[in-house]
Amino acid sequence: MATIKRSFNNRTCEAPYLIFLGPPGSGKGTQAEKLQHSFRLVQLSTGNLFREHIKNETPLGLKVKSILANGELVPDDLTVQMVVDRLDRPDTIMGVVFDGFPRTRDQALALQDRLDAKGKCITAAVLFRITDDEIVGRLSARRTCPKDNSVFNLKSNPPRQDEICDLCGGALIMREDDKPEVIRHRLQVYRQQTEPLIEFYREQDMLIEVDATRSIQEIEAQLDEWMPMFIYNANS
Ligand code: AMP
Repeated sequence: MATIKRSFNNRTCEAPYLIFLGPPGSGKGTQAEKLQHSFRLVQLSTGNLFREHIKNETPLGLKVKSILANGELVPDDLTVQMVVDRLDRPDTIMGVVFDGFPRTRDQALALQDRLDAKGKCITAAVLFRITDDEIVGRLSARRTCPKDNSVFNLKSNPPRQDEICDLCGGALIMREDDKPEVIRHRLQVYRQQTEPLIEFYREQDMLIEVDATRSIQEIEAQLDEWMPMFIYNANS
């Protein structure tokens, strides 16, 4: 694949590697899933990967189960290793949307090292901006499918049939960590450990912001509009 310069920040990258940054419930996962389908980027959701490990009762799953239930962050070494393993799979070559990763400065540095070593780099960090009040309202109405990870919202994006996944027909659940007391803790963790990454990416001229209080369709349209500047060389 030819190395090209992109119009967004003139960084020389082979394929789009986008970071979706923002608090829990800001809609990162919903939009990452859409880009996976429309632009064939791999959605690399560390939350989904951990939940798969927990469901399959792997050694990693057993280790992290209570961490997720309490809304804490999984230690960086475990998280980074899981991401590195996923990035080594060949489907990531055409581009990746990192959904919920990195969440700490050390994770961000480890990701940059890893991509450097592969001759790749981060194209942009998209910040989903939203208030805490909006998040608590959204997450208490969020329902997820434990089988295929589809995400619904009883108010803004309800399933066709009550509490049933549109895709696989399985029963939807409320995530343990979407209960109000855990949500509040996850927001604190976000403010302390993840929010500093906004400046980290802004300083490197990688940050672009989207108003995440808008509807799913409006945000999708905004991202579709931006994608060409992440993917194609405006001058080629
Ligand atoms: P999410 O589905 O992105 O909201 O993630 C759910 C939970 O998985 C988080 O509350 C953490 O416990 C864990 N987790 C997901 N991504 C990370 C990460 N990058 N670093 C540490 N823990 C993570």
